Amino acid sequence: MDIILLGPPGAGKGTQASRLEDEHGMVQLSTGDMLRAAVKAGTEVGLKAKALMDAGALVPDEVVSGIIGDRLDELGPEQGVIFDGYPRTAAQAASLDEILADRNRVLSFVIELAVDEDALVERITGRFTCAKCGEGYHDTFKQPAVEGVCDVCGSTEFKRRPDDNEETVRTRMQEYRAKTAPILPIYEARGIVRKVNGMGSMAEVNEAIEAVLSL
Ligand code: AMP
Repeated sequence: MDIILLGPPGAGKGTQASRLEDEHGMVQLSTGDMLRAAVKAGTEVGLKAKALMDAGALVPDEVVSGIIGDRLDELGPEQGVIFDGYPRTAAQAASLDEILADRNRVLSFVIELAVDEDALVERITGRFTCAKCGEGYHDTFKQPAVEGVCDVCGSTEFKRRPDDNEETVRTRMQEYRAKTAPILPIYEARGIVRKVNGMGSMAEVNEAIEAVLSL
């Protein structure tokens, strides 16, 4: 099964995608994670993407669609995937249709994480992750049990995304409203959108997504 998790920055797409990976053996395809890896590795794609990402602007459609196609080719045809942060524009949605059709894959659901945008800025600007294992934390909502020590792996190093500052977050929200939210009707017309309340706890949101997938 292939699904899209759609929602503004901070809606919990990444968190929910990694739960689905653990519970269903699906693979998360996050274009944001792939681009951050490319920036870190200093590849050509990374060099092109960095300034745009730092500003909260979208990376060109052909760049992200190219990396999604390449990544799908590395996975077997039976491997279900969760698209996280892709597609983000009408052009990407059209490319994804082609990418999937070329590989005989079918999109089962678009899960829309509905959130209160005012709460998102606090959610995003407070988040940080363990530099070693990637476990997610939050200044207000989820501090490590022992200050400065990762609950999962014991590491004492943490990191924050450079684009998780308030100014960039506002630009990312605008990009979502202007370019990404308008693609929902494409999928609504196909009857595959399922709206889930993204403001609950991680467990509640996960439960609501599970209910959709088990239909
Ligand atoms: P994310 O981790 O999904 O919040 O993405 C972080 C940043 O990577 C975004 O603000 C964009 O600059 C870039 N990015 C990630 N996915 C896409 C995409 N599908 N299209 C264009 N830019 C993207």
